[in-house]
Amino acid sequence: RELIVAIDGPSGVGKSTLSRRLAERLDYLNIDTGAMYRSVALAALRNGIRVDDAVGLESLCGSLEIDFRRCEGDLRVFLNGEDVSEPIRTPEVSLLTARVAAVAAVRQALVEQQRRLGAGGGVVLEGRDIGSVVFPDAEVKIFLQATTEERGRRRYLELRAKGHAVDLEQTIRDVAERDRADMNRSIAPLIRAEDAVLIDTTGLDVDAVFRRMFDLVME
Ligand code: C5P
Repeated sequence: RELIVAIDGPSGVGKSTLSRRLAERLDYLNIDTGAMYRSVALAALRNGIRVDDAVGLESLCGSLEIDFRRCEGDLRVFLNGEDVSEPIRTPEVSLLTARVAAVAAVRQALVEQQRRLGAGGGVVLEGRDIGSVVFPDAEVKIFLQATTEERGRRRYLELRAKGHAVDLEQTIRDVAERDRADMNRSIAPLIRAEDAVLIDTTGLDVDAVFRRMFDLVME
C-alpha cells in the first residue's frame, strides 16, 4: 500500500534530512514544500514582482512548474525545468520566502499543487502545515521538535562545516526569531495536528530518529 507520510516541524529540526532518508528507504517521492515556497520567492525576485502584489503573485504561481528529482541521494528542485536547488537557499531568498508564504493566494496555489503531487500516495511531504492543512487525512503524521538551543547548535555546526564565519549565540537567536515568525503569523501558523506523533529529537542522533519514523510508517 502506498501511503501519504506528513512530516512537520520548525526550521532546523532535521525535517529535510530525515524526509529524504525515509523517502529513499520506502522508494517514495519526497516533496519539500519549503522549497516550493522558496521557488515562488525566487521567481518573484527575478520577475520584479513585489510581495504586496497579490494578483501578480497569483498569476506567477500559475506559470510555475515545480518538480523534484532525486540525484545521487540528493533531492534537487526544478523550476520550469531549471535546477534551482542552490539559488533558493540564499539569505535574500530565505527572507523573501517567509513573506511570500504569508500571501493567501500563494498558499492556495501551492497547497493545491501539493495535493495533486501527493494524491496517489507513495509520498513523504515535509513542511509546516502538511498534517494540519494539506493532508489532514494522511496515514502517517509526524511532528518533529527540538529545543531552540539544539536547533541553533545544529545549524551553527552545519554553517561552520561549510566554511561560514558564524556565531553560536547569534545563530540560536536567529532560530528563535524564525520560530516566532512561523508561529505568530496569521496565515498557516506552525501548529501540530492533534493526531500527529510528536518526536522530540533533542539529544537523539539522526539514526535514532530515523528508526522511530520508519517504525511508525511500518506499523
Ligand atoms: O523549510 P524551509 O526553511 O525551506 O521553509 C522556507 C519558508 O517557507 C519558511 O519561512 C516557512 O515558514 C515557509 N513554509 C510554509 N509552509 C510550508 C513550508 C514552508 O509556510 N509548508
